[in-house]
Amino acid sequence: MNDPEVFDILVVGGGMTGTALAIGLSRQGWKTGLIEAADRADLLQAPSAAADVADFEPRVSAISVASQQLLESLGAWQSVAAGRHCPYQGMTVWDGDGTGRIHFDAAELQARALGTIVENRSLVRALFEVVENSSVELIDKVQVTGCSLNGNQCNLELSDGRTPGARLVVAADGANSRLRQWVGLPTREWDYDQEAIVCTVRTTQPHQYTAWQRFSQTGPLAFLPLSAESGDEHFSSIVWSQDTIEARRLMTLDDTAFVSELEQAIESELGTIEAVSRRFAFPLRQRHAKDYVAQGVVLIGDAAHTIHPLAGQGANLGYGDVRVLLEELARARNSGLSPAHELVLARYQRRRKGDNLSMMLAMEGFKQLFGRDELPFRWLRNTGMRWLDGVAPVKNRIAAEAMGLIT
Ligand SMILES: Cc1cc2nc3c(=O)[nH]c(=O)nc-3n(C[C@H](O)[C@H](O)[C@H](O)COP(=O)(O)OP(=O)(O)OC[C@H]3O[C@@H](n4cnc5c(N)ncnc54)[C@H](O)[C@@H]3O)c2cc1C
Repeated sequence: MNDPEVFDILVVGGGMTGTALAIGLSRQGWKTGLIEAADRADLLQAPSAAADVADFEPRVSAISVASQQLLESLGAWQSVAAGRHCPYQGMTVWDGDGTGRIHFDAAELQARALGTIVENRSLVRALFEVVENSSVELIDKVQVTGCSLNGNQCNLELSDGRTPGARLVVAADGANSRLRQWVGLPTREWDYDQEAIVCTVRTTQPHQYTAWQRFSQTGPLAFLPLSAESGDEHFSSIVWSQDTIEARRLMTLDDTAFVSELEQAIESELGTIEAVSRRFAFPLRQRHAKDYVAQGVVLIGDAAHTIHPLAGQGANLGYGDVRVLLEELARARNSGLSPAHELVLARYQRRRKGDNLSMMLAMEGFKQLFGRDELPFRWLRNTGMRWLDGVAPVKNRIAAEAMGLIT
């Protein structure tokens, strides 16, 4: 039997974050492997042009300007920009139970867009195209089934019997990370007791390249603009987070009844809903690993943290992890340190944990503020939003933070 292959760094999970990290690491000169359960042929498959709601992927992400810059530097954004993607110039947020309303405008920030809505599979495909032309060794169609530490080397067990080793293993294996569990990194977590319903709709009025978000006591509803190849501006992706009982009720409705409730919930802001795709529901849970590092293993992306999708920041936090880990590993390489050196990993954890935690707390604060019916909370929401809308410097600072341009 051949000796197991040994890498400097093995990344487990070829989602949005793991793939981006693997590309950056290979460029720094590390011998990098990327392990992904799915088949690369499926991930690289180009979508057909979108003419109908069923042609869009129901899972999309609002990619911030900072994440876009990272993806540009890795050579992946060029392919995203050549395909279906929708930069949005406006964002309107309002309180469905009151009069508070706030509008963010890219022009006020001298920016071309506040962010870009991208179908998740388009982003992953763009990253895999870069992987195919890089020195990353892609090991696809296999599951990692175990992990053990042997001196300074971490060995993985794969479902096909192979046991590759590495000085550092990066867990980018998503919210239910097995690696996080195997190495014993505990999480703080709680159920939001909400589910997010996602689907695609076609409306009679164009979306105006604006993300629309209405808060109600039972949860936020977002209409995120999509662009079809034909230039049609009437498709939007829905993320409707609702208390679990309400979400389950909405999932049982037939399309006609669902569309009628959806139109009411968005106050017919984009006219009538003409078509709706199949719906999917995701239970929402907040998780945060107490530590991001163990000997020879580091967590990034959803493996380290998951948050409520109300501000569309989950993947963007993951890209923040990628950016900082790449910086710290470049520094380690220049100083001749092992990628698993405790100082290297401790610096990564220190730089990321605070940022991730403050975003999680902000999301929790929003959720609580809009989930309360008592008069003081309603007053705070409505007066606060109206006040904020009129104070450009404060409003623009919030927008710049969401765009990832300041922290
Ligand atoms: C409804 C909803 C809406 C959202 N909207 C936004 C948004 O607008 N903006 C935003 O920034 N974020 C958003 N998010 C969050 C975003 O989708 C996630 O943060 C992001 O997908 C996480 O990427 P990841 O690469 O860390 O993990 P994942 O995408 O979960 O990738 C993990 C990968 O690891 C692989 N894998 C797992 N286990 C193994 C194993 N044992 N062996 C081999 N491979 C394995 C999987 O196949 C998968 O490819 C949203 C989330 C939800 C639920």
